[in-house]
Amino acid sequence: MAARTLACIGLGANLGDAAATLAAALSELAGLPDTALGSVSPTYRSAPIDAGGPDFLNAVAVLRTGLSPQELLAGLQRIERQHGRERPYRNAPRTLDLDLLLYGDERIDTPTLSVPHPRLHERAFVLRPLADVAPQAVVPGRGPVSEWLPRVADQRVEKLGS
Ligand code: ADP
Ligand code: MG
Repeated sequence: MAARTLACIGLGANLGDAAATLAAALSELAGLPDTALGSVSPTYRSAPIDAGGPDFLNAVAVLRTGLSPQELLAGLQRIERQHGRERPYRNAPRTLDLDLLLYGDERIDTPTLSVPHPRLHERAFVLRPLADVAPQAVVPGRGPVSEWLPRVADQRVEKLGS
């Protein structure tokens, strides 16, 4: 088997039955080719940033995958589309948002893919669940997750349970 890389995926949903959407998305992540689902964080509730609509539910999942970063992004976008995602405008409410947060210790900067995800270190709804599943994680170019967490302590996120 080809070498596999640890990748962290951020999941968010704020329309419809968001909890059911996250559960379905996790099993679809587990079904990606050459990919195994590892730890999954508890679910968190967060207020939308720069957007209207209901609160988001957020979680982070660890994958061990043989897919390239671009293949993985394509897989994430296919799963988003299966959940009826539309992008009418930036930060619009969405049934499902899947972000590639970390891909091993790689740094990628292309027009369609930036890894680490450019805003992950400033968002409590990403950092909190990421710290649950990967407490030792280091954001390449930015530093340890544990050092960024205290800086987002003022953002309202509520842990709901596993
Ligand atoms: P956000 O997740 O910031 O709310 P969107 O999900 O609407 O925004 O952004 C989707 C676009 O972001 C996609 O077209 C994709 O090519 C690009 N993108 C860049 N880097 C990443 C990444 N690490 N994970 C997911 N999408 C990314
Ligand atoms: Mg996204």
